[in-house]
Amino acid sequence: MYDLIIIGGGPAGLTAAVYALRAGKRVLVLEKNAFGGQITWSPRVENFPGCLSIAGTELGDKLLEQAMEQGAEVELEEAAALEKQGDGWLVRCASGASFTSGAVILATGAKPRMLGVAREEELVGNGVCFCAVCDGAFYAGRPVAVCGGGNSALQDALLLSESCSRVYLIHRREGFRGEQKLVEALRQRENVEFVLNAAVTELLGEEELRALVLEQNGARRALSVDGLFVAVGHQPDHSAFAALLKLDAQGYADAGEDCLTPTPGLFVAGDCRKKSVRQLTTAAADGAVAALAAVRYLDEK
Ligand code: NAP
Repeated sequence: MYDLIIIGGGPAGLTAAVYALRAGKRVLVLEKNAFGGQITWSPRVENFPGCLSIAGTELGDKLLEQAMEQGAEVELEEAAALEKQGDGWLVRCASGASFTSGAVILATGAKPRMLGVAREEELVGNGVCFCAVCDGAFYAGRPVAVCGGGNSALQDALLLSESCSRVYLIHRREGFRGEQKLVEALRQRENVEFVLNAAVTELLGEEELRALVLEQNGARRALSVDGLFVAVGHQPDHSAFAALLKLDAQGYADAGEDCLTPTPGLFVAGDCRKKSVRQLTTAAADGAVAALAAVRYLDEK
């Protein structure tokens, strides 16, 4: 039996592990996909204190290394269900494995939002992508589009412009939500075209994406592209545990800065929690707060 199980091995979960371990607790971190979480999709991170410029994958590796150096036990397992068992918790995993603990921190992060255009799901992996770092290389020398106006879309477009023949950056407004510095960098790239006030309405191609249809300023426009990188934000990724949480209107765990849930012994941290700023720094901060709250809970039990 562990003192603490942390579900999610991103910056929130791994920071929580470090804090709980330093308080002398036995900690297990469960991650279903890649330790480091969403940050592993970022080509470069330049706004994390102390790191001038670092690849997202490298930062993810460092976070994991730090937690393991402190004694974290880690498993690549998808937590599928969470049940109260006595005064502790039973975590059941999709593989059939199960683990028990005195307290649980949900740090499950968020997953990419889809555009909701017909055939989008069918073409995932055949032209429709959500991660330029992971899939950009498949489109080297070919025309692609990125849809979105936040930092993810801007960073994806910058990365893709280094290898793709043309990058259309499609955004539904005139102005971008992401950092001006990134917008300026994109303006300097000759192979990048901003397609503003535009919405993707159709995806064309038999088995693979070959073109998009857009509605731009009331007119229909077609773009020949082999790839569409969808970067229109995220949604919380904790549906398996929703019954144990109070959720806000967007489906995020409705917990305050103290990371407490209405259920004693269950805490939430990072992007799956209701908050106004979802950044690496705020995820890490949540990890620390949730871990110290969990430690207090365990010590008082
Ligand atoms: P985001 O900031 O929420 O931006 C999502 C963008 O997608 C917005 O421009 C939004 O348009 C657009 N959008 C949403 N739904 C849409 C739809 N159905 N159709 C078309 N467009 C749609 O998401 P994000 O870029 O993934 O970033 C998430 C957070 O991570 C942000 O806080 C960001 O700063 C942070 N981040 C940090 C780094 C880093 O290097 N540290 C890298 C990437 C992301 P509107 O503007 O019109 O709402």
